[in-house]
Amino acid sequence: MVMARVLIETCDIRKVFSAGGRVPFARKKGRVKAVDGVSFEIFPGKTLGLVGESGCGKTTVANMVLKLERPTSGVINYHGADISGFKGEDIRKYRHALQAVFQDPFASLNPRMRVGSIVSEPLTVQKHQSKNAIKERVDELLDIVGLRPEHARRFPHEFSGGQRQRIAIARALSTNPELIVLDEPVSALDVSIQAQILNLLIDLQQEFGLTYLLIAHDLAVVQYACDTIAVMYLGKITEMCSSADFLKRPLHPYTHTLLGSVPVPDPAVDIKRIELEGEPPSPWNLPTGCRFHPRCAHAEAQCKNDEPVLQEIAPDHMAACHVVSRTNGLD
Ligand code: SF4
Repeated sequence: MVMARVLIETCDIRKVFSAGGRVPFARKKGRVKAVDGVSFEIFPGKTLGLVGESGCGKTTVANMVLKLERPTSGVINYHGADISGFKGEDIRKYRHALQAVFQDPFASLNPRMRVGSIVSEPLTVQKHQSKNAIKERVDELLDIVGLRPEHARRFPHEFSGGQRQRIAIARALSTNPELIVLDEPVSALDVSIQAQILNLLIDLQQEFGLTYLLIAHDLAVVQYACDTIAVMYLGKITEMCSSADFLKRPLHPYTHTLLGSVPVPDPAVDIKRIELEGEPPSPWNLPTGCRFHPRCAHAEAQCKNDEPVLQEIAPDHMAACHVVSRTNGLD
């Protein structure tokens, strides 16, 4: 079997924020490891989901992939090339190849710009398309996302939340991107609209061969839309596997607790329901050993001292847990 070439690869990326620097409203001095050694691959035409509680580092990972934040260490490769070495034309091409759709369609669209200008802005920056060509492209993009050409003359406040997210998707599509980062793309929408937007994104992926990095805290969303799911906890990936394995064969205790709070409409799926106790530890004062040990029902003495390594437990199924490794004959 010939493997598709990797589109984006992160290799052991870390991001440390210093208090008084870029940590908003920081009252403490010190450093926070927002992302601590994250590695994954995103293949063309596929969707990788990053899921975890708020503050686990998933949005910081997305910002590093988008080149909005620079990793403190580690490498991000795009088609095998290290993006930290990009300059001038390479950066311009990279910014066109990667687009983003953000959580809040009320905040992410400029309220003073008409929809036509919002959608065409990435094209007008390129300065090599005529006004007529840009207008035709805007009409085409609005049609693709289920809006009408006359909507181009209106302002964002004249649209519902779902329609605004369609505008944001049209804008993201304008440069024919290879990868779109979807940062909580439906969490600000009514439940009835969420499915419409998710189905639109899936249809667009099939039609245009798009690749997605989907950031979400809602397990139902990632399970529905992703090929591969990576679970993050306090800056680290704790489990990574296919979407099917994620639901049917979760391994890591943290994944079990996440899934335990979600109704599963499939009697064949046996999820051991485990209550997640306590608050996540402070990122200023991370637990020793396994970061999940203060909340883990399976914690052992080793868990308090030794940090588990993310390793392949089954084909294409990785987890970072001493107990899971040992019960599978690996520790
Ligand atoms: Fe729980 Fe120990 Fe596994 Fe961490 S390493 S998830 S504390 S069993």
